[in-house]
Amino acid sequence: MKKDASSLSDRIAQWIKPPIRKLSAYHVPDASGLIKLDAMENPYHWPQDKIDQWLELLRSAELNRYPDPHARRLKDRLREVMAVPADAAILLGNGSDEIIQMIVMAMSGEGRSLLSVDPGFVMYRMIADFCGMDYIGVPLREDFSLDAEAVLAAIEQHQPAVIFLAYPNNPTGNLFDKTDMQHIIAAAPGVVVVDEAYHAFAGDSFMPLLGEHENLLLMRTVSKMGLAGLRLGMLAGARQWLDEFDKVRLPYNINVLTQLSAEFALQHTAMLDAQTQQIRQDRAELYARMQALDALTVFSSQANFILFRVVPGKAAGVFEGLKAAGVLIKNMHKAEPLLRDCLRVTVGTAGENAAFLQALTKCDL
Ligand SMILES: *Cc1c(COP(=O)(O)O)cnc(C)c1O
Repeated sequence: MKKDASSLSDRIAQWIKPPIRKLSAYHVPDASGLIKLDAMENPYHWPQDKIDQWLELLRSAELNRYPDPHARRLKDRLREVMAVPADAAILLGNGSDEIIQMIVMAMSGEGRSLLSVDPGFVMYRMIADFCGMDYIGVPLREDFSLDAEAVLAAIEQHQPAVIFLAYPNNPTGNLFDKTDMQHIIAAAPGVVVVDEAYHAFAGDSFMPLLGEHENLLLMRTVSKMGLAGLRLGMLAGARQWLDEFDKVRLPYNINVLTQLSAEFALQHTAMLDAQTQQIRQDRAELYARMQALDALTVFSSQANFILFRVVPGKAAGVFEGLKAAGVLIKNMHKAEPLLRDCLRVTVGTAGENAAFLQALTKCDL
């Protein structure tokens, strides 16, 4: 067998599907040595006694056995903690990213489309791309509110199989108008997934409306609540939909350690809620301090991050300046036309936020 580089690249070019070859892999920047405010993580771990209890529980983990394929105990906990209506079913994913993938795999095909808004959560487009589904991105308005008329027109034109709307939206942090969203749900020919990844910071939800629309599904994750390392997401909605998506779920997608650890954490919701409450308070403080800087336009947020705009042409310099000062955030400038000159910072601990602010004031704004 020949092993020279050109023969290998020819072989890859021949056999890897063209749409996949065109993609670039999701890039996670190296944060070593930096204050990490780029990924919407909760900065807090647990008190030592909780860590000890959790470690003790892990002694019982049967790593030689496959996990419970239906994660029944965990689903019961989630139903209670997330207030899932009794007549709704629950489907779990290895992160909500995997749930998006299951939905798209079950619905993709020639001429079928996924509709969302731009700027929105990047995984909707990415997963549509690699599962062979057309992505329709309807631009938000300049103030990042939902352009309901444009969405309704796009629904009429493209008849999308599935619509994803994040509530609150990432990367903009705002909640869309609920009545507009209900019009969209009513007009959608297929299914509408409301992605409530930031529910813990938002104070509003579509959960009580699940029973009112047969094509509404609701997605949550424990990632932004402080358990990003576990990889656990949840979809709630009519059993008939979820039974179909369950067919493309790999049998043991929620591993033993995740099931045990998530069950444990969800028995201590007071601890998680206290962290979330702290982050919400610190978000208000950070927002006020950023607003006091004349050079910034700061967008109000119902999530655990804040999007802000610097003067034209300065986003890259600010991003690099912060990084040089030891703070990693996310530069959104090139992501979307509407995000020109925008950056996004995750709300960290009070100390991390102060370090960010101090570094920010030293940048050339
Ligand atoms: C972070 C995020 C997710 C992904 O959550 P995981 O459960 O960690 O995969 C989904 N949707 C939105 C809008 C997010 O911001």
